[in-house]
Amino acid sequence: VPWRAVALTLFPDMFPGSLGQSLAGQALEDGRWSLETVDIRGFARDKHRTVDDTPSGGGAGMVMRPDVVDLAVRDVRSRLGGDVPLIYMTPRGRPLSQNRVRELAEGPGVAVLCGRYEGVDQRVLDAHNVEEISIGDYVLSGGEVAALVLMDACVRLIPGVMGSDQSHAEESFEEGLLEYPLYTRPQEWEGRTVPDVLLSGHHANIRAWRREQAEAITRERRPDLWLAFNAAPEKSGCEEN
Ligand code: SAM
Repeated sequence: VPWRAVALTLFPDMFPGSLGQSLAGQALEDGRWSLETVDIRGFARDKHRTVDDTPSGGGAGMVMRPDVVDLAVRDVRSRLGGDVPLIYMTPRGRPLSQNRVRELAEGPGVAVLCGRYEGVDQRVLDAHNVEEISIGDYVLSGGEVAALVLMDACVRLIPGVMGSDQSHAEESFEEGLLEYPLYTRPQEWEGRTVPDVLLSGHHANIRAWRREQAEAITRERRPDLWLAFNAAPEKSGCEEN
């Protein structure tokens, strides 16, 4: 069974969006993964198809109703079963990590609830034990772009989607470090040259240089990652992998 992505959304036309292009789009066409959208508005019961209401306790904006969202979730659950994790994209969620992405990519798929307005009534999230995930410390206008981010990160790890599975191994986060700088031809461009070591053909030196660069960049840009990297017990074994 191919990896399955389901988006519960008020804007189904936002899918597959960018995931219909390039390698993810080709893999979708080839049936390596599937994408389904569930239009939440289709589960509204009144004649105006209302999906939101004013926040209890007052305040700005609107909140997505629990009863309507619940019907959409039940519909998805009845067809997918309980194995596919249900995820709500929200700035309040746990930050998305490459580790979680890898776990999700190795599983049967994801069902992703996309919020709009101020978000979704908490009771329906609690009732279905929904995992809450954030893609970063900023606020988007809706969960669809966040869902595309999550799906993109997962789909590229599905075996056979990217050309070479080896290309994941040295990427940012895989070893707890950011990636080293990349270069290609021409060797000289507008007076800027490719670092000599990369043209030396000396693989051990190249590996050492890349490692130094990755460490320096991580230390400078992401003190949080650098701390975690140095605290990790398996650190010393990485270079030999
Ligand atoms: N009132 C919410 C808050 O302060 O946390 C923000 C609501 S936002 C305008 C509307 C929807 O966009 C959210 O329900 C969520 O689905 C999505 N969203 C916005 N920022 C996000 C982020 N950083 N990560 C994941 N989803 C996000």
